[in-house]
Amino acid sequence: MWISFTCLAVFIVLLFWILLGNSVRNNYKSENTSGLEHTAWTIAQNYGQDDFENNLKLISESEKCFIQIVSEENSILSMYGGDENFNQTDGTVAEDIFIKLDNSNGWLTYYIEDDIRNIEYVVRVVVLANWQGSREILVISKSLANVDYMMQIISSRLIFALIGAIIVASILSFIITRYFTSPINRLTEQAREMAEGNYRVTFSEDGFYEVRELSNTLKKAAEEFDATEALRKDFVANISHDMKTPLTVIKMSAEMIQTVSGEDREKRNMQLDRILKESEKLRDFIDDTMYLSKLQSKTMPFTMDKVNLSNLIKSVIFSFEVHMVSENVQMEFVLDNDMIVMGDAKLLERVLNNFISNALKYSGENKKIIIKGFSKNGEIVVEIYDNGIGIEKEKIENIWQRYYQVDNYYTTKVGMGIGLHIVKEILELHGAKYGAESEVGVGSKFWFSMEEI
Ligand code: ADP
Repeated sequence: MWISFTCLAVFIVLLFWILLGNSVRNNYKSENTSGLEHTAWTIAQNYGQDDFENNLKLISESEKCFIQIVSEENSILSMYGGDENFNQTDGTVAEDIFIKLDNSNGWLTYYIEDDIRNIEYVVRVVVLANWQGSREILVISKSLANVDYMMQIISSRLIFALIGAIIVASILSFIITRYFTSPINRLTEQAREMAEGNYRVTFSEDGFYEVRELSNTLKKAAEEFDATEALRKDFVANISHDMKTPLTVIKMSAEMIQTVSGEDREKRNMQLDRILKESEKLRDFIDDTMYLSKLQSKTMPFTMDKVNLSNLIKSVIFSFEVHMVSENVQMEFVLDNDMIVMGDAKLLERVLNNFISNALKYSGENKKIIIKGFSKNGEIVVEIYDNGIGIEKEKIENIWQRYYQVDNYYTTKVGMGIGLHIVKEILELHGAKYGAESEVGVGSKFWFSMEEI
């Protein structure tokens, strides 16, 4: 972290130095060049005046430039200002200056370098007069050393900036490590513990907002895993328990046939009947478990369409007709016409089947089942009433849980406690409301409601 931050700081300072250095140098150079060109133009305007020589002296002093008037024979007519360490007479007047001027409009600018002192000069040459082919020229030059001096100052300042940037980078990397990397490392360690199966691990909550958010998310994930794990254990325990009971009955009945009632036709048929019932129960249980897991893992084919609940309820009631006759059940229905909802007809059929078969299962003699369907406040409400054994108030909330069966009837239980859980899953998938009301010894009412289309 510290190395990357320091590299970044050095990179930024260097980039700044290169960009700033270049732009300062170029600006300074072009400003001095145009300033010198302007001075040369002023001098040329003044050529031939009485105070010309005097002006040259004044300008060379005020502008800190070196001025020479040179004739074509290369004799220096005047010379003002200049740098004694630099032989500007030789340096500034290029040997082929008059040839170069031939190809120009009478003026030109060039740069020369004093290699010994490493100073650059800008030189402006202007033709002042032409006496029968012999020209007189103005050669004015100025040192650009100041820009190098400025660059030296900038460089020394940038070294301070670099040191400052490295210090800031160190402080920043320290803060980030303390408040960001360390909490992330701690979280990684705790997440690893979770991955190894410890879902009760405590996730630390210090550090930046994002780290705290991540910690909260991991905490929720751990809680979910913990709940799923508990459910899985519960599921395995319940399945093995619920499968064991019918399997024991089947085994015992088979053994009885083998050892005791083999020849006794009546007893044998009774035990075979038990075997048949228990294996059917087992088959239903396995079917329901598969159905539920498909529903929960969302692999169940599921299509939302317009469903006419009035017709669906009638067809489900019709399928119970055999029971109505054989078990002497009285079934009444009061239904509005064309109760249309959005849903999956097959899944809704399963809901109705379950409610009605429960009403049948948990009713005693003189079974009476009433089914009502009506439209109310933009919703279709379906109610299933029975006059059965009822459910105690404190237990009614639990009946929607998987494998829940009301204790009182545990010994004589006829189902496996999975049906209402499937109903709950289906109704929730449809965004439906649902509930149950009951009174022990009087009967129960199961209901659900869905938005009317
Ligand atoms: P099961 O296969 O045991 O019927 P359900 O999930 O359908 O499973 O029902 C859960 C429990 O709710 C039942 O075991 C029963 O105790 C109670 N129950 C459901 N419907 C009724 C009802 N109509 N009357 C009385 N008790 C009921």
